[in-house]
Amino acid sequence: MDYETCCFPSCPGRAIIRVYGVHERTVSERKSCCDEHISTFMSSYFARARIGPGPSQPSKEGVAFDVEMFYLDPRPNEASFVALREVGGDRMVGCEIGVQDAASLWWHVDSFQHPRPLIHSTTSSIITLLGGELDHVVVHKYAPSQKVKHEAKLIIRHAGVRRELEVRISDAIILAVVCDAPIFIAHDVNNQIFQNHVGVTRIPRQLAR
Ligand SMILES: [Zn+2]
Repeated sequence: MDYETCCFPSCPGRAIIRVYGVHERTVSERKSCCDEHISTFMSSYFARARIGPGPSQPSKEGVAFDVEMFYLDPRPNEASFVALREVGGDRMVGCEIGVQDAASLWWHVDSFQHPRPLIHSTTSSIITLLGGELDHVVVHKYAPSQKVKHEAKLIIRHAGVRRELEVRISDAIILAVVCDAPIFIAHDVNNQIFQNHVGVTRIPRQLAR
């Protein structure tokens, strides 16, 4: 056998999907699953109740969330996935991302040393070079019926002025990690996502795969 097998006991399946647990923006756990067991893993992951590390950080922008887990699925036509956990709270938001975005996130949270700067590092350098600073990112729109469910923007401080830039949610998350900036989910979006969900984990069903 010339491939890694699934991490589930006694499963001979090929480990296609790489799962990474993240704590304080550093990889804390690594698993590799077959296609069948990623569903099992995600079901148990969603069922576990827990509080995100750090004190709660509500602000006028929204509520702070941070990367808690993501997985990278390299197969064509399959999405990768990132889960954000509320800082100091029990809510979770998940969204599908592209495999390149998952790889980029992995490089940045697993201290992967790429020989040349990649796009998110370059974007961070451009912001800094032009005298700006990424203050935070915010998920400001949620449209569950549309293919692109979340929209996000960068909030950049430049010469004392607030600048806003619309970006994909995956780019917002990765740039927040690269620039060490907080991730907020707007109050309106939180209300929309969690309005029909009560309980400990309050996971939006439509976001779970
Ligand atoms: Zn398996």
